[in-house]
Order: sequence, then structure tokens, then C-alpha cells
Amino acid sequence: MENSVELRSLGNTGLKLSCVGFGASPLGSVFGPVSDDEAIAAVREAFRLGINFFDTSPYYGATLSEKVLGKALKAVGVPRNQYIVSTKCGRYKEGFDFSAKRVTKSIDESLERLQMDYVDIFQCHDIEFGSLDQIVNETIPALQKLKEAGKIRFIGITGLPLGIFSYVLDRVPPGTVDVILSYCHYGINDTTLEDLLPYLKSKGVGVISASPLAMGLLTESGPPEWHPASPELKAACQTAAAFCKKKGKDISKLAMQYSLCNKHISTILVGMKSVEQVQINVAAAAELGKGDKDEQTLAEVEEILKSVKNQTWPSVRFSV
Ligand code: NAD
Repeated sequence: MENSVELRSLGNTGLKLSCVGFGASPLGSVFGPVSDDEAIAAVREAFRLGINFFDTSPYYGATLSEKVLGKALKAVGVPRNQYIVSTKCGRYKEGFDFSAKRVTKSIDESLERLQMDYVDIFQCHDIEFGSLDQIVNETIPALQKLKEAGKIRFIGITGLPLGIFSYVLDRVPPGTVDVILSYCHYGINDTTLEDLLPYLKSKGVGVISASPLAMGLLTESGPPEWHPASPELKAACQTAAAFCKKKGKDISKLAMQYSLCNKHISTILVGMKSVEQVQINVAAAAELGKGDKDEQTLAEVEEILKSVKNQTWPSVRFSV
């Protein structure tokens, strides 16, 4: 393994995660089709370049992401204790179910698809769509039993509205929730996660920030059809991407580097489906490590995105 990617501690877990994390939702073909061979090659390249963290969910590609990631990890053959896998529960193709019964069954299904005996991090997926009181009183206690049974090592919660995290963390015993995963809130166009970081640190909770490319908004090819951003936000991001391209710059690289700069965030989970994307994202991190950062283009892009800064989209059922 060429360890070109910095490792960062994840809260109080004792885990050290590569600062570039491998988001495996694309392996569920949610951003276009991906063959098993492409997936295996991307995972192999990730290991070669020092990535040790892989995130998936039964929801991604209706279980396809877990199956393909499991197949790829097995094919690559790195010893299980040398990488960290996170999967989720409560969100499925069929809908949401955070009941103790469903999440307890869910881990066994995920372990089978991933072809492993345990996952390192098991997260309640997009909890704003469920009842947060159920998460506190029923789901997390069920996950603690899975921890005791050795099927999972750490417990996490994920979702879009930032208020969900303090709602849950303020109501569970300290040390019960080890990790939070936030997405689309720490990137060039939205930095609202920043305000929550001191609170999370005070609770000893590890921070994973996902979607540095804002689920495709900050890419040259643009977001997928299903992207929930407003037309205004989509248009501003495309203007910024076109501006970078004209200048001979890559907006995705700029976006990765922006997110990676905050060392209070343990890992930036970027969705990847090819060897090339792995190489580009790791190279972005390596350049940063050498102090190479394009401050001028970043300032120009921030100016283009000024009118849509911190604009997000609604996530149903939850409001604080
Ligand atoms: P992202 O912002 O990482 O964007 C992914 C898209 O960008 C994909 O189309 C990918 O192919 C493309 N891409 C990757 N690197 C690129 C590059 N260098 N240049 C151009 N395009 C590039 O969004 P995401 O995949 O949704 O998020 C990352 C991961 O975080 C997910 O795969 C998932 O594991 C996790 N996540 C979790 C939650 C949750 O738990 N609620 C939500 C969002 C994301």
C-alpha cells in the first residue's frame, strides 16, 4: 500500500480513517452503470493509494452497492482488519423502518451481502425521515445489542438537516453514538456543518462529511436527474463548473480540496466508481499535503456561488 492519503482519528473510536473515504453509492449504479470489473479495479486502486474507509448502505442501488462492494473487497483480498467498512440501516428501497426488529435483521442481511463477519460502523440512515424519539429509545438500544454481539463495532447516525444530530446526541447516554455522518453541508457551496463541529467535539463524536461534490453539483458533467437542488442552485454550480473548465481547472478537484482542508472532519466521503476518479481524488489530497492550493480560482468560484451559499433542500418529516 502506498500511504499517500493522510489518516485522521475518528472521535473516540480509536479508528484512523483515510481523509479521502470511498463512497460506494456509485457501485450501486446510482450515478450510471458500473460493471463488477470496474468496481473491483476502483477498490483495488483505492487500497493501493492508501484509502482504508468504505461506506455503503442497503439503500444504494437497492442492495446492489453492498453486494458489489463485498465482491470487490473479497476479490482484492486485503486482510479484514486493515480496512474500515460502514453500512447503514433503516432506509430501504421499500421505505423507512427504524424498528428494533428491522434493524436487527438488517445487519445480518448486510453482513451476508458484504461477505463479512462484522462491520466497523453501523449507522441509522437518514433519520429525519423517521421518528427521532424512536431512534433514541428503540433503534440505538437495538444497535447497542449488536455491538455487544460483535456484529458491529461503532454506532452512527446520518441525515441532511443538521438539527437531527444534537436532538439525538442530547438524549442518549454519552458514548452511545460514536459517529455522525453529515452530507452536502461541508463544501464550497455549503459550509453549515462548521458551526456544529465544536459541539460534536465536546461530545467526543467522530465526524464524517459526505458528498464534497454536492452529489454531482460540483462536477463538469453535472448532477443526476434525481438531484433535489433547486434550479437556481444547479444553474449556479454549472456556471462555476464551466468557469473552471474555461480556465483549464477542475471544479471537482477544487471542491475536494476545499472539504479536505478542515482537519476537524475525519474523512471526506466521495462517491467513486472508477480507477480514474480514485486517482484524481487522491491526487487532490496529496497536492494539498504539499501545500498546493488554487486560492485564486477558489475565490472566483466562491464569488459565483455567493447568491446560493448555504442553500439546501427540504428533507421531509423533520423540522427543528
Ligand atoms: P459526491 O458529492 O461524492 O459525488 C459523487 C459523484 O461525483 C458521482 O457521480 C461520482 O462518480 C462523481 N465523482 C467522484 N469523483 C469525481 C471527480 N474527481 N471528478 C468528477 N466527478 C467525480 O456524492 P455522493 O456519492 O452522494 O456522496 C459520497 C458518499 O457519501 C456516498 O457514496 C455515500 O457513501 C455517502 N453518503 C451518505 C449519505 C447518508 O448517509 N445519508 C448521503 C450522501 C452520501
